[in-house]
Amino acid sequence: MKVNMSQGICSICGTTVKRVEMTRHIQRCGVPDPKAPVTKRPANPSFHLFVDGRYAKKYWMHLAVPADSPLSTLDAFLRRIWLECCDHMSAFTIDGDEYSESMDESLDEIIKPGMVFTYEYDFGSTTELIIKVAGYRDAPGKKQSVELLARNDAPVVVCQICGALPATQICADCNDNDKGWLCDTCAEAHDCGTEMCMPIPNSPRAGVCGYTG
Ligand SMILES: [Zn+2]
Ligand SMILES: [Zn+2]
Ligand SMILES: [Zn+2]
Ligand SMILES: [Zn+2]
Repeated sequence: MKVNMSQGICSICGTTVKRVEMTRHIQRCGVPDPKAPVTKRPANPSFHLFVDGRYAKKYWMHLAVPADSPLSTLDAFLRRIWLECCDHMSAFTIDGDEYSESMDESLDEIIKPGMVFTYEYDFGSTTELIIKVAGYRDAPGKKQSVELLARNDAPVVVCQICGALPATQICADCNDNDKGWLCDTCAEAHDCGTEMCMPIPNSPRAGVCGYTG
């Protein structure tokens, strides 16, 4: 599937929207003043973040994060929804500075609308994300935690063995050789055994280091 054909669901209104149109959609959906410029800091500021896989663009999401949250809040959310396999190290690189370990700096102090920064999970089999600060988002009735505004529909990937049917399972062992995405039929016949085959997670870390969601 071409990345620009990717679509997902806005969790505010439930509408299916194309990847390329989602940022503008989110900027107008469920906010008190849809005409307010997103670069203007509102009374109850959250940051609207667009996140995708650096090498896996078909996985993406939009988040609202309260502006006074520490970086560790974003780190914890990314791990929980997309990444965590065995408590690897992670780091943000923002404006040339690397943030790892404690991550207690508040977002307000280090990001602003228009910035793009990166995040790496696991310095061995790294999953790298790009995070774009799409703007501020007014969040009256202030939410304390990260809000998932939208994410991609699970992409259809063709089985790497038969090349015909859609993959439904991943063998983590064979994923290292790009032979791990299997359809039901090929999974049944798989040499590593069906117990090695896991459902495919909707994540840029699918199949890496045994990640199964
Ligand atoms: Zn919407
Ligand atoms: Zn791991
Ligand atoms: Zn197959
Ligand atoms: Zn295998």
